[in-house]
Amino acid sequence: MTRSDAGLAGMVRDGDWPRPRGWAQPERLALGVETLPGVGATLARRLRTLGVERVEDLLFRRPRRYESAADEVAIAQLWGDEEVAIAGVVQDVRLRRPSRRLSIVTARIADATGAISASWFNQPWLADKLRPGTPLRLRGRLGRHGFDVKSYDLGEARATADFAPVYAASEALPSARIRELVRAAVDAHAPDVLDPLPAELELPLRRDAVAALHFPDGEAEAERARERLAFDELVTLQLAVLRSRVDDAVAPALGEPGELLARYRAALPFALTPDQESAIAEIDRDLAGAAPMQRLLQGDVGSGKTVVALYALLRAVEAGKQGALMAPTETLAEQHFLTVESICAELGVPVALLTRSVKGGVAGASIVVGTHALIQQDVELPNLAVAVVDEQHRFGVEQRRALTEKRSPHVLHMTATPIPRTLALTVFGDLAVTEIAKPPASRKPVVTAWVGAERSSEAYTRLRAHLDAGRQAYVVCPLIEAPATRVARAAEEEAERLRRAELAGYRIGLLHGRLKAAERREVMRAFKDGKLDVLVATTVIEVGVDVPNATIMIVQEADRFGLAQLHQLRGRVGRGSEQSYCLLVSRPKEELTDAAQARLDALVETSDGFELAERDLELRGEGQLLGTRQSGLSDLRFTRLRADRALLERARELAQELVAEAGPWHDEADRLAAPGV
Ligand code: ADP
Ligand code: MG
Repeated sequence: MTRSDAGLAGMVRDGDWPRPRGWAQPERLALGVETLPGVGATLARRLRTLGVERVEDLLFRRPRRYESAADEVAIAQLWGDEEVAIAGVVQDVRLRRPSRRLSIVTARIADATGAISASWFNQPWLADKLRPGTPLRLRGRLGRHGFDVKSYDLGEARATADFAPVYAASEALPSARIRELVRAAVDAHAPDVLDPLPAELELPLRRDAVAALHFPDGEAEAERARERLAFDELVTLQLAVLRSRVDDAVAPALGEPGELLARYRAALPFALTPDQESAIAEIDRDLAGAAPMQRLLQGDVGSGKTVVALYALLRAVEAGKQGALMAPTETLAEQHFLTVESICAELGVPVALLTRSVKGGVAGASIVVGTHALIQQDVELPNLAVAVVDEQHRFGVEQRRALTEKRSPHVLHMTATPIPRTLALTVFGDLAVTEIAKPPASRKPVVTAWVGAERSSEAYTRLRAHLDAGRQAYVVCPLIEAPATRVARAAEEEAERLRRAELAGYRIGLLHGRLKAAERREVMRAFKDGKLDVLVATTVIEVGVDVPNATIMIVQEADRFGLAQLHQLRGRVGRGSEQSYCLLVSRPKEELTDAAQARLDALVETSDGFELAERDLELRGEGQLLGTRQSGLSDLRFTRLRADRALLERARELAQELVAEAGPWHDEADRLAAPGV
């Protein structure tokens, strides 16, 4: 063995040395939550329903808010109904079971100044933990029968601390429990969080930001932590956008529109609006050249984007090539397919549907409609010239890139979500933007009313009047946060109930996410063909469903929905020339939060999607405009669109610098997308 085999300094390969202790191991962030102390199979399952599977899902779960500061007071000083904290020792404890379903643990707590009793409901195991002599800290307020406990700590103050984080929770998994788990994850794994950005930027350490996000010493620290994480998020997004740009890409030049498009126009049962015409003119200009089109078509729900999209697809077909329409959900893809197919049949253009549940048969098609199944490796679209991506903000940058990576078609992105210009640039890179500002003139704004639950029978009377006049209707089931199977069951029960009660004698169809694709298509087809009077549905009808004869919608427990979601739902009616109605049924006004009232008021007052988006931003104070469902790169979890404009600009500049510098930063997006980031 020669000397050099021992390796020279600087030539040591990874893995030659054991890592020093305390060295970050980012790969450990991808460990399952069951590796945390105290997490068993049941808990892991409950966490999964909240979208938490891995350690990093806990670390990067954003608190919805923080508890405010509460003074610690002596028990003898308790007075009024201010939220406070008290600290003392258990004197005695009692467990009662007044009925089979109720247990009450009552403990007497004393400090140097006095004693008070505190009760916990249905947590019988606490009786064992609250042994006499146990020190504890309580947060809550003075009630009629002692201290009303909001949170408690045995040992170190965590749940009762000022600015303790509050997380989105479920019935089976309260926020307090999530907080404990996050604590465990932060203790064990925060050091595994790496900083992907250059050290010379002198940003706070990402691992510190994670810890401060969950356990800040005040609102200001929490906000600095959020900004730090938002910055990474924005840089990541920018890098992905920049990298997805292929500078010298060439797409087929499609020349001028010809005979097929003339037949298309003639086949439409209406004349195009001026906005649609100018959108088409811009698209024609893009398609004439060999530089791939990158255009964002923006227009409120029902403004008539689909007609324009189909025009672009047919331009590809006319040139002997293929067009593809990609939608974010199966329901929406199927719906688009029905629309596209019915017109294309008339024009003699073969159309295929491709989703996870419907495969094959793409070969002979000129237009393919589908979900992201379209971009999977084995799908052959050798002739793709025009791709339309609907509701594109729901796709991640990576997914959008995959569609255009190997081929470089002209791409039309469509969105009904108004996106501020800076944001559009950030999320989609340098897109040309076309807006359909005015809906077809024949369309009347949907009349929206807010109806208290006590008058819901009147809402159904109104709905039946529409049905009796030959129209159709939607009933939207209450929004519940539950696994898809439970949502489906609740919807089935509701449909059954309506069949027996308010809607007895009418033909009712049911649409929810658990139906098989074929069943769902059948229901949609039957509703579209007028073979069903009412469609009872979960939010799966939120986007795209298009049945002009449907003129009235009842949304049950409307206060549970978000503003944007209600606006999307409402867009399912008012798609024909008849006056349409949307009845938002909720609990009595007095029982609603201010925010819920403001949302419902806004919907009654305006049907302008852009204005609603602005109000939504104000109400939520943050920019979840991009939807909350998507995951991956497009998921801006920490970013607030309004407040973070400046941050966004900095992220853009940094990303540009990183990409311009040759070398390792080129691969930054990969590193950022790795576990722990
Ligand atoms: P969007 O995709 O923007 O939500 P759609 O393209 O689905 O809207 O159009 C909504 C409804 O309006 C459809 O029923 C469509 O047939 C109809 N529509 C589209 N353009 C016009 C028009 N120029 N005149 C009348 N109706 C139209
Ligand atoms: Mg649409």
